Amino acid sequence: GTSARFAQTAALIGVLATAYVVLGRLAFSMSVQHGSITSVVFASEGVALGFVISFGARVVPGVLIGQTILSIWSGPSILGGFTIGLFNSAEALLGLYLFRRLRISPRLNRPRDAGLFIGMIFFVLQPLSATGGVAILYALGAISRSLPPELAAWWIRGIQAPLPSPDLIPAAWFAWWTGNSMGQLLVAPLLVIWLSRRPFRLDLRAGSIICALGIAAVAVLTLSNIHVHPLVLLALVYPVLVWIAIEHGARGVVVGNALIAPAVIWAGAKGQGLLAGHSIQDRVAFVSFFIGSACVLSLLLAGLFEERSQLLKELVHLAHTDDLTSLSNRRHFMKQAQQFMDDARTTAQPLSVLMVDIDYFKTINDDLGHAAGDDVIRAVAGYCGEHPGVALAARFGGEEFVLLLTGSALPEATACAEDIRSGLADTQFGDDAPVAVTVSVGVASHRSGESLDNLIGRADAALYEAKRDGRNRVSVAG
Ligand code: GH3
Ligand code: MG
Ligand code: MG
Repeated sequence: GTSARFAQTAALIGVLATAYVVLGRLAFSMSVQHGSITSVVFASEGVALGFVISFGARVVPGVLIGQTILSIWSGPSILGGFTIGLFNSAEALLGLYLFRRLRISPRLNRPRDAGLFIGMIFFVLQPLSATGGVAILYALGAISRSLPPELAAWWIRGIQAPLPSPDLIPAAWFAWWTGNSMGQLLVAPLLVIWLSRRPFRLDLRAGSIICALGIAAVAVLTLSNIHVHPLVLLALVYPVLVWIAIEHGARGVVVGNALIAPAVIWAGAKGQGLLAGHSIQDRVAFVSFFIGSACVLSLLLAGLFEERSQLLKELVHLAHTDDLTSLSNRRHFMKQAQQFMDDARTTAQPLSVLMVDIDYFKTINDDLGHAAGDDVIRAVAGYCGEHPGVALAARFGGEEFVLLLTGSALPEATACAEDIRSGLADTQFGDDAPVAVTVSVGVASHRSGESLDNLIGRADAALYEAKRDGRNRVSVAG
């Protein structure tokens, strides 16, 4: 009811605010010297966007609460935190609006969805957020010579460049724009994809081991003190991400990025591991470039792969299925039947084929119209396809069906044919004007060494005999 929904909303707001604060604090704890490393990846913004898109506008107070607490905790700046929180809340709501307006699928399983999501973050949400944030700081006097740098740092979440001269505004804007973009790019797709798909389930397969080993190798390389050039990391990460995209699509790459990025951020913040001995500017550039390119590349590729495999699945289905009856078509039947025949040979099991043709169907078409004729074809197809003992059923021609029976020698196959014939003869078709329909059936059982074509040819000859003998009967191939 209403109160349950209220409780759920309150809980979600609590989780959102907590994650916002924890990730924000984590970013601050990685502050180094005077650089702007903390703003390189501000993951709180990703949590905000991901939650608001996944759960709707009702959880947006979590952004406001989270940002305000974060600002108070990081320095006694209630007003600064509150106003920035208001701005970030509005930005998350705009993100929700655009997400819905652009009809972005939360599965991000097409290049268009991934591209629009990335573009929305980089070119709409974060330019606005940076403009608003820097403007608020300027209005509050945080970016001005009159404030001591320590105080200014309280206002400015993450931007800790040697403050504060007016010409630092572009630098502050740029740091805000990229830092928040990276945070959103890393976290928002992860939440949007996984929260839209409950229960959580990652289908593991053999290739997953390679993905896991790749991620482990990245972690070791990043966190250990092995002296390699940072570009080695890119050489390793890109193939691993492509592999994950192939194996697990967008759901996989967002997890892969979330596992890989923290190690790289840590190395950049501490100047250790892979990034030991590099200047803070180089480290900031590397982390930013690394996360941005890894996320964009892997999300677009995963979307591309998923869309292609989905299209391929649809294509295969279309190529195998008869449109009117949803039974297999002739081509697919021949392929599957050959498989069954090969299996039957190795297991020495009998195998039989029935050819079924509706009697005087032209009359049904002429009397009731083509559409009613189609209905009859569909009904007979459904009846034959679901008959017990039928392993394969296909529409072979206009109103002609072929059925494959496994484990049935001639006597059982004949009994089954008789069962289908009498069953159909006793059934009335059509809703308003009942139609009586009969079929003729030809039966043939597989002889050792016989080809599939030959077997079907004998069943067809038997069907012709049944027609000649007066229809509504079963005829057995000699
Ligand atoms: P018989 O007892 O000898 O089988 O007589 P019949 O009238 O059923 O003759 P035949 O099997 O040769 O006729 C097939 C007819 O089925 C011809 C065609 O107009 C009709 N037909 C073929 N495909 C379709 C279809 O998809 N929908 C409809 N409504 N009719 C079809
Ligand atoms: Mg017919
Ligand atoms: Mg026919």
